[in-house]
Amino acid sequence: MNILFMGPPGAGKGTQAERIVESFGVPHISTGDAFRLAMKEGTALGQEAKKFVDQGLLVPDEVTNGIVKDRLSLADCDMGFLLDGFPRTLAQAEALDEILAALGKKIDHVVNLKVDRDRLLARLTGRRICRTCGATYHVLFNPPKVEGVCDKDGGALYQRSDDTEEKVGTRLDEYTSKTAPLLAYYEGKGLLREVDGEKDIDAVTADISSLLRG
Ligand SMILES: [Zn+2]
Repeated sequence: MNILFMGPPGAGKGTQAERIVESFGVPHISTGDAFRLAMKEGTALGQEAKKFVDQGLLVPDEVTNGIVKDRLSLADCDMGFLLDGFPRTLAQAEALDEILAALGKKIDHVVNLKVDRDRLLARLTGRRICRTCGATYHVLFNPPKVEGVCDKDGGALYQRSDDTEEKVGTRLDEYTSKTAPLLAYYEGKGLLREVDGEKDIDAVTADISSLLRG
């Protein structure tokens, strides 16, 4: 079974992906891991990618697509895979179709975790960090005993500038506008499976498992 996983930051995609690969016995393939593997093994594409990464530049699509193809060609993908973090654009989605066709494979399900924007904002802006010891808290999931004060040393808690509502909101809006065409693309192919990501973690895993087993 070949699965593609999508979902905005804060939707719990990583956690769900880990659980699904474990219960379905397929490899979890993220582009980050595929890049590290290619660079570590020094493949031609890995060396090519390293040139861009070392300069802090975006790796061009031809290289990224090639690395994804190499990774999906490995024997552990024979029984399926869960691809996470790729494709990010419509052009990459079309490239993925070509890659899979060349390998005699196809996508069976595109799982999209849906979580309301306000809930994502609450999850992603709730982190607080102690100025003294660096301990991290979350105002909803792991609050300190006294608001704004570290449990361990009484230090003041602060919010990272990346975690402000404005920054997080921008990140979420960028994600939404970039992925909307992708979701439409897969919906048009009858592959899109929307999953309610607002339920608790176990319920979301159960929903994904049952739709994949469907
Ligand atoms: Zn502290």
